[in-house]
Amino acid sequence: MAVPFRRTSKTRKNKRRTHFKLEVPGMVECSDCGEMKRSHRVCKNCGSYKGQNVINK
Ligand SMILES: [Zn+2]
Repeated sequence: MAVPFRRTSKTRKNKRRTHFKLEVPGMVECSDCGEMKRSHRVCKNCGSYKGQNVINK
């Protein structure tokens, strides 16, 4: 098995991990209930989209 020739520096390691962030950016606050939801998606908490309730309960 190949072994790294040089130890990865802190800088290099940290630079690599700049892509390593919380998944799904595009999180917004629901205008109806204030819960965090994904933008352009129906709110999971209250079932509203664009200010109106889309899910019939
Ligand atoms: Zn909501």
